[in-house]
Amino acid sequence: MIGTRIAQARKSASLSLRALAQKVEVSSTTIFKYEKEESTPDSTMLIALAEALDVKVAYFFKVNSDIKLTNLEYRKRKLSRKELKSINSKVINLVEKRLELELFYPKAESVKFKVPNGLPKYVQYQYDIDDMANRLREIWNLGENPIADLSEILESKGIKIFMIDESSKNNFDGFAGLANGEQIITISKDWTGDMQRFTLAHELGHLILEGRLDSKIDEEKASDRFAGAFLLPEKALKEKLGEKRKRVEIAELAMIKAEFGVSMQVVFIRANQVKIIGHDYSNSLWKFFKKEGWDKKEPSEVYPSEKVYRFKQFILRAVSEECIVESKGAELLDMSIEKFHNYLMTGI
Ligand SMILES: [Zn+2]
Repeated sequence: MIGTRIAQARKSASLSLRALAQKVEVSSTTIFKYEKEESTPDSTMLIALAEALDVKVAYFFKVNSDIKLTNLEYRKRKLSRKELKSINSKVINLVEKRLELELFYPKAESVKFKVPNGLPKYVQYQYDIDDMANRLREIWNLGENPIADLSEILESKGIKIFMIDESSKNNFDGFAGLANGEQIITISKDWTGDMQRFTLAHELGHLILEGRLDSKIDEEKASDRFAGAFLLPEKALKEKLGEKRKRVEIAELAMIKAEFGVSMQVVFIRANQVKIIGHDYSNSLWKFFKKEGWDKKEPSEVYPSEKVYRFKQFILRAVSEECIVESKGAELLDMSIEKFHNYLMTGI
């Protein structure tokens, strides 16, 4: 194990066997033997190696290659075994990078996600889910306004967000689970921002509602309702549309979408849930959207993709505080050293 870690750190630091050997004043054969685990460095040598490689000694003992994803919850379950495998390995790769950064730079460690106290313990009716979402907004001090950066809020609560490339033609649109016990949510880069946000809020719904739902309530539907209520609270929606409406303009749906970052479909579904519009009218809108192909691609402007800054920010801080070398930063961000260097200097 130590050997593999020495080799990893050496490659990350872009050092040859010989260069590392020179730094710690042994022969390159000695380093080679360490890496092949034919011999083991003593503690003095480990300290010297750690210094030469810009890592903490603990780095050599920590194994990240053993990340386990558990408690997985997929939003859509139509994925093939092969697709699932590919998604899982992409996520594990990203998790490894996060954990590796935390190793070099403990400030990047996140708090452990906890469902806050003070939420209703029991949900008997669908409508109670709105109360749950409102209460969570209160506890997290989010106010009544649109939530601008959902990913960042969730990250600050200890949920790690990973965005992966997964072409939208397959059925993946996100999952939640635990990576070595830490809460994660994965979303696809390819989806529009409103879709990503709905997925994030839906998965948050599962975490919040777990163990609180009456047995008559379907957890998937409840998580959808939670997502809508969390992103678009009743009070805010009534301010936009009024208390009661016979019909609404498509342009109104588009405006609310742009402001709150939810799809137009979610807007009228919410309007029906909080009884601004009737069930029949909401249904007719649904059919109209389907007929126009708007259930797949809405006519309004695309809502911009979510951004996750946290990981990148910590890498920049770690480089700046000299806890990691530039080449390590580049590796963690999957950038070439040159590109990363330019990025450091210009921000682009
Ligand atoms: Zn779900």
